[in-house]
Amino acid sequence: MRICWYDNHKLGLVRDGQVFDATAALKHLPALTYPYPKGDPLIDNLDTLGPLIEDAASASAGQDIANVKFLSPVQAPTKVIGVPVNYHDHIAEAEADDEIATDRFIGSTMEQGLFLKANSALVGPGEGVERRFPNLRTDHELELGIVIGRRASNVSEEDALDYVAGYAIALDMVVRGPEDRSLRKSCDTYAVLGPWMVTADEISDPDNLDMKLTIGDDVRQDTNTSLMIVNCRKQIAWASAWYTLWPGDIIMSGTPEGVGPVLPGDVMHCDIQTVGSMDVPVSGE
Ligand code: MN
Repeated sequence: MRICWYDNHKLGLVRDGQVFDATAALKHLPALTYPYPKGDPLIDNLDTLGPLIEDAASASAGQDIANVKFLSPVQAPTKVIGVPVNYHDHIAEAEADDEIATDRFIGSTMEQGLFLKANSALVGPGEGVERRFPNLRTDHELELGIVIGRRASNVSEEDALDYVAGYAIALDMVVRGPEDRSLRKSCDTYAVLGPWMVTADEISDPDNLDMKLTIGDDVRQDTNTSLMIVNCRKQIAWASAWYTLWPGDIIMSGTPEGVGPVLPGDVMHCDIQTVGSMDVPVSGE
């Protein structure tokens, strides 16, 4: 199942290149009252809402995916988690380029630890990336996005994938510089997720997916998630050892070699096998 938010916050089901309006299913969400449950209400209730989304979509006319504005498929995560330097070839690249690594601590993925991006940075591909500082370098980082489906605390690697709601394409955008990572990766629009979430049942092995980012004819990043140092299961177990994961929490699982600057007018074409593809425009001064 491919679930999306699009246009003016409509809920959509994507099938055969078309988006079907499933917004009517939302009336079946439990009424929210204080204290609000943590996490994204749609993701939290996806098991019960799934069939109702199918029903609502069946009753609506399809629209070509090229004609809709895709928002983030997760609207209310409690956190967006980042995994640093999670591909060997990116480590070599980062260590060779002072602008990427600057002079901060360089250690293994596990030694550096996870980081957080501000939730307010989260957008969908239809909203695009707005470069924040014209005089500073903003880089793209293409990553597999893991969406947590239910409360997870201290889960084992063996059980980790049972806690996944689905997967999406993620862009961990970053301003290069000496400041703390969480600041440089939290500018508005610097966390892109989309174009939809593919539910976990459709991806048997998230650790074996081709992914690619091109700008024009320039292939910038082209790899397979099997080359990750810390795989998806370990990422979930590791994160859940530090803090509870809630429905809708997003793990951006790390970027391969080929990160590079974006400029206003660029369009990042992103593709992850089985998940889908998305075009993300860059704006700015
Ligand atoms: Mn990253």
